[in-house]
Amino acid sequence: MARYIGPVCRLCRREGEKLYLKGEKCAKNCTITRREKMKKSAPPGQHGLSRKKLSEYGLQLREKQKAKRIYGILETQFRNYFDAADRLKGVTGENLLRLLELRLDNVVYRLGFGRSRTEARQVIRHGLLRVNGRNVNIPSYQLKVGDVMEMKEQAKSAQRFKDILDVTASRIIPPWLSAEHGNLKGTVNALPTREQIDIPVHETLIVELYSK
Ligand code: SF4
Repeated sequence: MARYIGPVCRLCRREGEKLYLKGEKCAKNCTITRREKMKKSAPPGQHGLSRKKLSEYGLQLREKQKAKRIYGILETQFRNYFDAADRLKGVTGENLLRLLELRLDNVVYRLGFGRSRTEARQVIRHGLLRVNGRNVNIPSYQLKVGDVMEMKEQAKSAQRFKDILDVTASRIIPPWLSAEHGNLKGTVNALPTREQIDIPVHETLIVELYSK
């Protein structure tokens, strides 16, 4: 699956806000904060400063781009998530965020087994993880309530995971998940509610965009 491999801080600059794409690292050395202090905050690119007030369509588009960037997925896949959310019962915007939250890479990140979603994806692709006892190396794997993720034995003793857990130890695990950091194990206990999904996105604008 294709993915963005350019500088991630540029994506935050484009959205004009901190999207925390590097996890805990963002608290220490953030490009947006630094540029604000230097009074140089503007979207990237030659025409960054000359961008005008956003239209209604522009606002909707930016919310969609923000969600895509936070979860690290590209347009076609995002559109597929929207179509799937639309087919489900309930509020489409909330269904969309719930599907994105239940991606394996997001859950591995939420559990603190990756410093960022990008690192969580890498961990999965390297084949270091089992879901319900079976090898899974697909970052977009959709989890369901009751699923149990566990790192393989070789990962449990690796220095890399000790370093990761040192950084993510203070991360608050959302109530719909439970983690056993000692065993590098986590469980999906419930479906996340909208209040439990702490991403700065107005999903109704995304629904409006795709419903045109
Ligand atoms: Fe975004 Fe983090 Fe870069 Fe700041 S440091 S611009 S929050 S990715």
